[in-house]
Amino acid sequence: MNKDALLADLRAALGDAYVVTEPEQLAPHLVERRGLYQGKALAMLRPADSAQVQAVMRIATQHGAKVVPQGGNTGLVGGQIPMDDACLLLTLGRLNQVRTRDAANNTMTVEAGATLHAVQHWALEMERLFPLSLASEGTCQIGGNLASNAGGTQVLRYGNARDLVLGLEVVLASGDIWSSLGGLRKDNTGYDLKHLFLGSEGTLGIITAATLKLFALPKAQATAFVAVPSVEAAVHLLRQAEAASGGQVTGFELVPRIGLEFVTRHLEGARDPLTQAHAWYVLIELSSGGTQSVLDELLGTLLSQGIEQALVLDGAVAQSDTQRADFWALRESLSDVQRREGGSIKHDISVPVSAMGTFIEQATQAVLRRLPGIRPVPFGHIGDGNVHFNLSQPVDMDTQDYLALWGEFNDIVHGIALSLNGSISAEHGIGQLKRDELAQIKSPIEMEMMRSVKHALDPKGLLNPGKII
Ligand SMILES: Cc1cc2nc3c(=O)[nH]c(=O)nc-3n(C[C@H](O)[C@H](O)[C@H](O)COP(=O)(O)OP(=O)(O)OC[C@H]3O[C@@H](n4cnc5c(N)ncnc54)[C@H](O)[C@@H]3O)c2cc1C
Repeated sequence: MNKDALLADLRAALGDAYVVTEPEQLAPHLVERRGLYQGKALAMLRPADSAQVQAVMRIATQHGAKVVPQGGNTGLVGGQIPMDDACLLLTLGRLNQVRTRDAANNTMTVEAGATLHAVQHWALEMERLFPLSLASEGTCQIGGNLASNAGGTQVLRYGNARDLVLGLEVVLASGDIWSSLGGLRKDNTGYDLKHLFLGSEGTLGIITAATLKLFALPKAQATAFVAVPSVEAAVHLLRQAEAASGGQVTGFELVPRIGLEFVTRHLEGARDPLTQAHAWYVLIELSSGGTQSVLDELLGTLLSQGIEQALVLDGAVAQSDTQRADFWALRESLSDVQRREGGSIKHDISVPVSAMGTFIEQATQAVLRRLPGIRPVPFGHIGDGNVHFNLSQPVDMDTQDYLALWGEFNDIVHGIALSLNGSISAEHGIGQLKRDELAQIKSPIEMEMMRSVKHALDPKGLLNPGKII
């Protein structure tokens, strides 16, 4: 590959200012949040629109150059980091406009580089809800969310990112563009190709725009921070809440005592909403299009019945939007505060919701057997059967010595999740972090089908090399 000729063609297509090679400008895009990967790239490209993304892919194909798409760089598996100094890093941040809004169709078409927060805001302007919600929403981009099939805190009611999409515009490795932005809710005309790109982590095509489903804005929300005696009790409470509310549970998040202690220790202004310490908590949120008083009463009844049935030990109901935001801040900062407690070995597992208690118990015992003093912090989307079974280091251990055990603990925890019919990646994807493991846990036929799809769409292997497969 002639790098000078490649760069010259790219500059002619995008303009000099949008082919960035200065190391200090590249640097923030070559590290990811956890510091697990230090990337390399020949240049960072900043196209302005889909036509320029097409031009990039045509030039890349001609020169045989590899291309790594990057959105907000908040991914947690290294998928967005190029690892080769001949790679082109393609950032989508300049494709950040809303193209069309159709309130009667409950849809909106947006460009891939818009932040998730901007997309939520555009929906609010239409008096609609775009329900995808992640702690990284101020930075992550909708294209990155769709490419990684993000989950978040409202999957229980609205589904994953995949479930919120009606159509995509995608630039293929060849430079051809495929568009299906018509906003149809029913279209059974052959294979539903969008699902190939959703969750493909930039290995099959570059998402440049999407038509998203919108929902009615809830008029009332009732939120409680509740102590429960066990993880099993939390699952029972969830099912009762769903039955009693007719499917109005929009959030159901697990918080362990140690997590709450980390937050109250490190997050300024955070405080324990309850007077006594308990081993487990859930953050419950109900949302409805009805009146606030009816929803408040429903939540109150649910908690009283929970106390009578010993499913609830104590609870605090948010009395204002500020208090509701405070409860959510406790949950959403759980990931960040772990950094302040030294090394943290991460897991993003799912198991059937019914097996969640067994998983947490078995995994906790297993990691403690391997390293007494290790501090498990299992938290997250218990309503989806998804917990981040993160492991903070023993207090007196050297951080690097601890982090050297990352692979060993992954094996222990993933082994238990798999034995319960679970997954080693519930919502963060495979990227490069779990690529080798994927090949071990998928059947040969699954790996072969994935390779065939990859080969069909990207025969030269130009898109996001070294990720997923
Ligand atoms: C504090 C915090 C909380 C988080 N909480 C959650 C959570 O609750 N649930 C969850 O699922 N994730 C969560 N994440 C992970 C992360 O935010 C999501 O995976 C998010 O969807 C990534 O979006 P991004 O724009 O940052 O993508 P990037 O990190 O830039 O990229 C992610 C992947 O998508 C590819 N990609 C990016 N843009 C495109 C595109 N336009 N076309 C094709 N491929 C593309 C990249 O190559 C890469 O493989 C969290 C992360 C942080 C830091």
